[in-house]
Amino acid sequence: MTGANAGIGFACAVQLCKQGARVLLGCRDEGRGREAQRILQDRYGESSAQLVSLDLSDQQSVRRCAEMVESSPLHGLVNNAGIVRAGGQNSAGEFDLRFATNHLGHFALTGLLLGPLTRTGGRVVTVSSMTYRTIEPNWGLSRTGGIEFKGGYALSKLANLVFALELQRRAERAELNLKSVACHPGAVDTNMIANYVPRLYRIARPLIAWLLNSPSGGALPVLRAITDPDVQGGEFFAPRGLMEWAGGATPVQVRGLHKKMNSAKALWDLSEQATGVNVLSEYQAFI
Ligand code: NDP
Repeated sequence: MTGANAGIGFACAVQLCKQGARVLLGCRDEGRGREAQRILQDRYGESSAQLVSLDLSDQQSVRRCAEMVESSPLHGLVNNAGIVRAGGQNSAGEFDLRFATNHLGHFALTGLLLGPLTRTGGRVVTVSSMTYRTIEPNWGLSRTGGIEFKGGYALSKLANLVFALELQRRAERAELNLKSVACHPGAVDTNMIANYVPRLYRIARPLIAWLLNSPSGGALPVLRAITDPDVQGGEFFAPRGLMEWAGGATPVQVRGLHKKMNSAKALWDLSEQATGVNVLSEYQAFI
């Protein structure tokens, strides 16, 4: 579980540990990660959770993380971590920090872990967002400075969705023992919202908390995508309530699917070039 120390990721980790899963907590901040690990271990036992250092904006860190966990029996990978702002240190080089963290980091991590995931017939769940509807798949804008605030986040979340569906398509063609599933959590009261609209959040926190999903509510589509035995590869889960805002998890249609998937090869090629990770390279002939 990437981004397991806060928000939706932590809420998912709680439920998974409660059901007896052993969860590897991929976290960038050691203090926050240790605290999450401590809470889970106190509640569900020493073996329930283990912290793994992971900074998705840093490809070296992604590789170290994959090396640490590749020998574990991995049944699922949840690409959950995300940021909404592009400011701060950028170890991602020429790419917008949101695209580098939310998409490129997960692209590389998934590629590096395909071996262990296919050995168990595992599942990759990638967390997108409703904002995918608001942007065209113009991957050229993912370079640093290529896009303004809201568009940069939306583009990275569209990349999450297109990646998840394209991974499923390629895995099927290569007859891999793997399912790739996408989901979005609706609108959820987490640090991400506080970072997205900081001033409004300070003024209207109680109203926001009332209007939005709680982290445990937002976790439902993710939990269904990763645990439901009847899930099909390529499905997209979201809250079933009005406008997919909140509620229990249900499969939904991707809006503008055809156009989005026409851009999948360009995204894949760009991501392989940017990360140096050739996902499914040994199966190229089948793709
Ligand atoms: P939070 O900000 O609460 O949690 C994000 C998590 O990602 C934190 O654990 C954070 O770590 C981690 N993270 C951020 N950057 C990195 C990095 N470089 N490397 C590793 N981990 C990192 O947000 P949410 O729980 O709301 O978001 C979870 C997912 O849900 C995201 O993909 C988001 O885009 C998506 N989503 C959220 C919505 C919402 O309304 N909240 C709506 C739609 C989608 P740290 O604590 O150290 O910052």
